[in-house]
Amino acid sequence: MLKDVKVDKELMELDKKHFIHPTSSIAQQQANGPSFIFTEGKGIYLTDITGKQVIDGMSSLWNVNIGHGREELAQVAQEQMSKLAFSSCFGTISNEPAIRLASKLASIAPGDLNAVFFTSGGSESNDTAFKLARHYWVLKGQPNRQKIISRTQSYHGVAMGATSATGLKPFRDFTNSIIPDFYHVDGTSSEALREAIEQEGPETIAAFITEPVQGAGGVNIAPEGYLQEVRKICDEYGILMIVDEVITGFGRTGTMFGVNHYGVVPDMMCFAKGVSSGYAQLGGVLFSEKIFDDLKELSKGTLLHGYTYSGHPTACSVALKNIEIIERENLVENAKLMGEELLKGFKYLQSNHRIVGDVRALGLIGGIEIVKDKLTGESFETPLSPKLAEEAAKRGLIIRTVTFDQDTLVFAPPLVINKAEIERMIDILDETMIAVERELF
Ligand code: PMP
Repeated sequence: MLKDVKVDKELMELDKKHFIHPTSSIAQQQANGPSFIFTEGKGIYLTDITGKQVIDGMSSLWNVNIGHGREELAQVAQEQMSKLAFSSCFGTISNEPAIRLASKLASIAPGDLNAVFFTSGGSESNDTAFKLARHYWVLKGQPNRQKIISRTQSYHGVAMGATSATGLKPFRDFTNSIIPDFYHVDGTSSEALREAIEQEGPETIAAFITEPVQGAGGVNIAPEGYLQEVRKICDEYGILMIVDEVITGFGRTGTMFGVNHYGVVPDMMCFAKGVSSGYAQLGGVLFSEKIFDDLKELSKGTLLHGYTYSGHPTACSVALKNIEIIERENLVENAKLMGEELLKGFKYLQSNHRIVGDVRALGLIGGIEIVKDKLTGESFETPLSPKLAEEAAKRGLIIRTVTFDQDTLVFAPPLVINKAEIERMIDILDETMIAVERELF
């Protein structure tokens, strides 16, 4: 594409003047304008308005699992939009893509997670789980069970319930006031959960929520045995177990869902992102057969919870095709194999760079901790990962950073990535670290 400097400049100015970016620094935006204005994507690559091509090392927001530029998905959306772009699912009205997707999800989800409530994204899914968990306990005659417990490094989204459950404190502090009855426990041991339950009183607790791998918290893989212990504790105290699979679902960790690694079946499982690989806005909550049976038996009035876009026919048809592609191209297996390559690359960087501390990956979600001194584990006073990410972007690789309580580079490339492309990512990181270390030491 020919570089059109005039259009480029005009868009930069309009962006600064009219567009408030999500999760962004307004000051930085006003000072510099957008760093990239993307116009095209293919596979793991994105191309911006100036013609610069970069590797999308984050699958954009951990979501473009099948990679960019899939004509099949565009075609399915076009066909569905031409036939029936939208119709409501409130009350007794239904549509075929929503029914087929619900049934497909039930068939791939673990255990008896067989009934789905659709939303438009992850935050709405978590809010749905919290509201319906509380509603469930009212129906069961235990209305005192309202408390929701989550883990300290967790991220569950930005709706009020999702923010309140989010363990990362800056997100809660940002809103000034959060919803009552949300509690956070240390996420490194299941004993912290047991203690909190005992302290608060099990009869006051509705549910516990956890990610199998914390994403925005810095790619923290659940400790060995953690999820199994949590399942036991929830059963012991009659507390609902909610798993947030918004990032980990649909192949990301090398299994279809994160919980498949642990053989655990939650009572509710929230999903979004990879269900449609970002080609349409979609999320939802899968409910266990047991919970759904109780709801069927006990619900008398209207379920007063529903989004306009719950069961959106176009979004659901896109998701169905997306899941078909994940299965047809064995992308879950590819994520597992390429995840091993990614970790090998991280270990190479660890042995060659003094600033690389702990490295971790499960399938194609990974993190590299940045330290000042890897022998002592001492950190830089000002996190270095933002500088590394900026330098990597200049060299053609987009990644993200986590700087709350840590200094970590995070990765989640599309599940279609191959070995040569992983090696290219590692080469770029290697060059970036050499350059930054040269400046530092
Ligand atoms: N849960 C987790 C684990 C997430 O990572 C995210 C988004 N990154 C959300 C929930 C919120 O999803 P959304 O941004 O689609 O509302």
